[in-house]
Amino acid sequence: MSTDCLFCRIIAGEVPSTQIYADDSVVAIRDIAPQAPTHVLLLARQHIASVGEVGKADRDLMGKIVAVGAELAKREGIAEDGYRLVVNVGRNGGQTVDHLHVHLLGGRHMTWPPG
Ligand code: AMP
Ligand code: ZN
Repeated sequence: MSTDCLFCRIIAGEVPSTQIYADDSVVAIRDIAPQAPTHVLLLARQHIASVGEVGKADRDLMGKIVAVGAELAKREGIAEDGYRLVVNVGRNGGQTVDHLHVHLLGGRHMTWPPG
């Protein structure tokens, strides 16, 4: 855990969040500033700064995060209409929290290309 990382502190319970799922490697919370009717953040439990830092040993973890996202989409009732899984990486990608996470967005139609 990184003490100066917001998502590490959320995972540790030091910062409040609305948690909807947790297992040994993934924690899912509701985004504090939702960009869609459903906006969930799938957090790696371990501190990895971004997708750019994902090593070979973490590849199962990435697959797991995506699978949990698909499962939660069903649970949230957005799977049938479709949804989006998004990973922002770095400054141009719009990443604001340097802790590996995937956005699950749904409940409205998404445009393409993204902004
Ligand atoms: P990103 O911009 O891809 O790094 O995503 C970071 C996300 O974290 C943004 O969508 C923020 O709204 C969200 N966020 C920031 N602080 C919190 C918090 N305390 N609890 C839940 N979500 C947060
Ligand atoms: Zn962290």
